[in-house]
Amino acid sequence: MTTSIPASIGDPPSGYPSEWEQDAVLRDGGTVRIRPIVPADAIALQAFVKDMSTESSYFRFFRVKRQLEPDEIEDFTNLDYDKQMAFVAIVDGELGGVGRYNAKDCPDGFAEAAFTVADDLQGKGIGTLLVYRISAYARAHDVRGFRAHVLADNHAMMRVFRNAGFAMHRDVDQGVYTVEIDTEQSDAVLAAEGRAEQISIAASVMPLFYPTSIAVIGASRDKASIGGRLFNNIINADFNGPVYPVNPKASVVRSIHSYSSVTDIPGSVDLAFIVVPARFVNDVARECAEKGVRGVVVISAGFSETGEDGARMERELLDIVRDAGMRMVGPNCMGLLNTDPAVSLDGQFGPVMPRAGNVSMSSQSGALGLAILDYATHLNLGISTFVSVGNKVDIAGNDLLLFWEEDPNTDVILLYLESFGNPRRFSRIARRITKKKPIVAVKSGRTSAGARAASSHTGSLASLDVAADALFRQAGVIRVSTLEELFDVTALLANQPVPKGDRVAVVTNAGGPAILAVDALESQGLTVPELSDELQATLRSFLSDDAAVANPVDMIAAAGPEQYRLAIKALVASDEIDALITLFIPASQEGVSETAAAIRQAGEATPDDKTFLCVYMHSGGAPSELSSLDVGFPTFSFPERAAKALRKATTYAEWLARPEGALLQFDDIDSERARAVIDAVIVGVDEEGVWLDPDSVDAILESYGLTIPKARVVSTAEEAIGFWDEVGGSIVLKVISPSAVHKSDVGGVALDMSGARDITAAYDQVTDAVADPEGVLVQEFISGGHEVLIGMVEDPTFGPLIVFGLGGVFVELIGDVAFRIHPLTDLDAAEMISEVKSARLLEGYRGGEPGDIDAVVETLSRVSALIDDLPEIFEMDLNPVKVGTPGNGVRIVDARIKARPTVGTWIPSRTDLPSNIGS
Ligand code: ADP
Ligand code: MG
Repeated sequence: MTTSIPASIGDPPSGYPSEWEQDAVLRDGGTVRIRPIVPADAIALQAFVKDMSTESSYFRFFRVKRQLEPDEIEDFTNLDYDKQMAFVAIVDGELGGVGRYNAKDCPDGFAEAAFTVADDLQGKGIGTLLVYRISAYARAHDVRGFRAHVLADNHAMMRVFRNAGFAMHRDVDQGVYTVEIDTEQSDAVLAAEGRAEQISIAASVMPLFYPTSIAVIGASRDKASIGGRLFNNIINADFNGPVYPVNPKASVVRSIHSYSSVTDIPGSVDLAFIVVPARFVNDVARECAEKGVRGVVVISAGFSETGEDGARMERELLDIVRDAGMRMVGPNCMGLLNTDPAVSLDGQFGPVMPRAGNVSMSSQSGALGLAILDYATHLNLGISTFVSVGNKVDIAGNDLLLFWEEDPNTDVILLYLESFGNPRRFSRIARRITKKKPIVAVKSGRTSAGARAASSHTGSLASLDVAADALFRQAGVIRVSTLEELFDVTALLANQPVPKGDRVAVVTNAGGPAILAVDALESQGLTVPELSDELQATLRSFLSDDAAVANPVDMIAAAGPEQYRLAIKALVASDEIDALITLFIPASQEGVSETAAAIRQAGEATPDDKTFLCVYMHSGGAPSELSSLDVGFPTFSFPERAAKALRKATTYAEWLARPEGALLQFDDIDSERARAVIDAVIVGVDEEGVWLDPDSVDAILESYGLTIPKARVVSTAEEAIGFWDEVGGSIVLKVISPSAVHKSDVGGVALDMSGARDITAAYDQVTDAVADPEGVLVQEFISGGHEVLIGMVEDPTFGPLIVFGLGGVFVELIGDVAFRIHPLTDLDAAEMISEVKSARLLEGYRGGEPGDIDAVVETLSRVSALIDDLPEIFEMDLNPVKVGTPGNGVRIVDARIKARPTVGTWIPSRTDLPSNIGS
């Protein structure tokens, strides 16, 4: 083994990019710290080279090398962190691998690169992580790709390159491959990165869900205490392996020999539950690390939720966990459970172990978790795994999603969220998973974007809970606003196929509730089609003459088991509907169970292309035929609830059918020009930011191919007239003033001006409108066209939010806008427009002039590209954008851009990197 090496840098060298330090999970579930190299790593590096096997050394240096020369050491460890870069991988305090590039003297933008992994750590994915990490760094530092020299029989390295998904070009000469790797983050790279991340994260949480042995540290003899309840739950559920109570004050707990420390346990321990007072937790966690425990669940409260002291303890706890390569749930949580009979783990302290089923859930609130487990057992829901994530210091929703993604026991994922750790990562992961299984989320709380006083249209519009909404929508997550809805939607998705379309039939024995059901369905945007003559005739053949058969099918109160059975059968066999809601309102208790049994039988026999829901309306609740845990469809107590759940399911079905959409690429973008402008304007600016002057704004917009009218900043009426002479037609004059946020509000805008006399008068008028005129912006006058708003505001947790709406200055008043989180695909942009109701005006509503919608989509996409390249921009209002008739494009006649130096809170999406653990 090699010389130990510190994971964190005490006194970093100048230019050390500490934001590139990263913890990641390995393929076997262990953890690794990856950080930039420092000169102090020289000793560890020397030892690393000395310990290399002959083969590895040969692969790396093309000869066997036992020692690095002083100048080589210097070259390897003393870097400029720009054209030269190296990352070290640290596993269990040892140097486990190095990846480096040198882009000096590489005019074609391809840097020389080399990767080495310690012999005893190969095959764990360290090489892959190093390749991803260093290529992300390269991308951020204008290095186009790598050139690596690899011996032909170094299959491991070739595999790493290939599996990483990069576009590769190989040349072989005398047994040496020269591999050119294009580090562009293509879809293939993203997919490969996602796969690598899924495999390793899922492996790392396995010991928590499938432990082979358990210790309960703080197992109490007091059955009422949390430690007592937890221990009893684990025992009562017959966990499939040894369970060791740890309790220094008792030698026996529930007739089981108890240990005074986890380190005293003779056998190995996979998973430890920690239920001791907060001040002892870190010591206990250290003992777990010493014992070789792989997962810990810290139930104890008293950490960051209590204040700064607790937060400090919590950070220390995380360090202990990460240093030992353990994974942790909690602290401050109620535990976890897995109903899989292979483990039968009831590791939570609530009273209920739910029935086994196909729903997995994570809850950020412990109390709510208890309530949910309780409800689930009373509803038609079986649980696969459940995790109360507590303060989610290590394991959070994203890790669990990655586990559930490939978990065969999980068909539906439920999330109760109070906050997002890393929304970008959530979005990337959820987008992929929702194409395979539904994620249903309740998100409480509001986004912080609105907390800030807004001085732009976009800023004030973003004050609703729009960011989370946009995030969920773009990731295909089904958002529900109440727990009731959470259960309703889940009961539907867990038991029934996703609807193939939005056509619904209602069959009932009572007219009134059926009308309510139809109203509810239609107000949800679902259709209740009139049935065909043939189908109506079929229904007639066995229903009473008084029955209505058009849809809703009202079989009237006389309907019994036979009518229900035949009607359901006929309806689900037809291709006129996609879903069927069966209403049953018992007039008396007589015959209820026969009818219920008939509904159950018919409902469970429906073909796969039909979604079946039942509504049983009676204050006493549904009879066991419709409510027992193994009924194959959901039964609701009210038609409105069924309609709502069905709507969520059809929306999800639309998501499944929706194509991916593409990030539009533009080859006419002059990002260097825009970069230079931004760099110049933010000099000396603090984090409050600054509104850019009109020339800078125009230069930036132009660099991204965003179309603006001809314009100039002038300081005399004569110059304004000169501008008019040049452009012809008529012009617009706008006062430039720091105090006039919305210029037309104060009379600072004069439209449609021509002629020297009028322009002079307008010049005086707009400059008189404010106390501090700094000049006048003159523009060509753009006549006609619809006015739309395109804006951006950065949310501190979600990153940039993009807004689209119609209405010019009235946009806030109307509030008819659509939000999306950056980056936008072409499809996102098109959907934003169709989501805005007033955007129908652009289609030429009621004989009005149509607008160039394609140009609006393109403008949105170009704005997204701009935001991606210029993270300094954190607020932007293009209002109005004047939309010409189809083919005539758009003109941005008013633009405001606010920028500040980047604080590194978010990395542009195209360099967003997976393999971070936590949140
Ligand atoms: P502010 O938003 O600060 O009040 P704008 O520059 O948006 O100022 O101008 C106000 C309104 O004047 C716009 O909403 C638009 O209707 C109209 N307008 C501004 N510039 C032009 C132009 N170049 N051509 C036609 N109309 C314009
Ligand atoms: Mg404006």
